[in-house]
Amino acid sequence: MRKEILRAEKLNTLGELAASIAHEIRNPLTVVKGFLQMMHKQEKGDNYYYLSLVLTELGRAESIINDYLNFAKPQFEKLEGAELAEIITEVTLLLEAFAAKEGVQVNVQLEWGIYVKTDRNQLKQALVNIIKNGIEATDEGGEVNISQVSAGNESYIVISDTGKGMDSAQIARLGTIFYTTKNKGTGLGTSVSIKIIEAMGGSISYKSEIGVGTEVTIILPTYKQKPSDYTEQTQMNNAI
Ligand code: ADP
Ligand code: MG
Repeated sequence: MRKEILRAEKLNTLGELAASIAHEIRNPLTVVKGFLQMMHKQEKGDNYYYLSLVLTELGRAESIINDYLNFAKPQFEKLEGAELAEIITEVTLLLEAFAAKEGVQVNVQLEWGIYVKTDRNQLKQALVNIIKNGIEATDEGGEVNISQVSAGNESYIVISDTGKGMDSAQIARLGTIFYTTKNKGTGLGTSVSIKIIEAMGGSISYKSEIGVGTEVTIILPTYKQKPSDYTEQTQMNNAI
């Protein structure tokens, strides 16, 4: 028991150290990126191509650092009632080009008028990470289906893909920071998403079968629900 506590403390200190290093590296990186972007804009010669590559890789380093910092300490800056259907629509728009490039069809089924209380950007990040994994796991011609419904005081978002699936050992490793099976993966996406969903008082579960696909279920507490005839009612009241 005592050993476990000590280990947890150690991990915590290590995590804090890593977070402060990540934070310190981000600042000079931002400055370097700014100057390189300026040079890139002015460059007419051979270096244009090299500068493009440097900027892409710099962007990658920046997003790894941001993901790590978000994992170490998710920042919920502004809590507000956010409509789930609207957030999912925004996220699928963001991923539209990526899905098209991978040849994966994304289908969405939404229930409008359901709100959760959250920092919109954090929830969007959580969903982007999970949907992107679904698209990445799926071969050309496959599908990712997203459905969102409410039941009682809970909201459900189910993201299923027809991708390569995971066995139980792989599922067990989900949420372990830096666990990845991809060449250019960071192993941060799922961990960050789980952290965010849990910080919202929600839960996330995975069901998967090798060669068949994966189904991710996110359950969030509903903040408020707008009756479907809400708009008409308000207008009527205003008229009176
Ligand atoms: P990354 O995407 O950078 O590898 P993640 O934390 O997002 O990191 O995911 C970790 C690993 O979990 C992935 O490399 C992959 O092996 C597995 N994984 C996550 N989602 C899925 C999915 N929908 N289908 C199959 N494997 C998945
Ligand atoms: Mg990922």
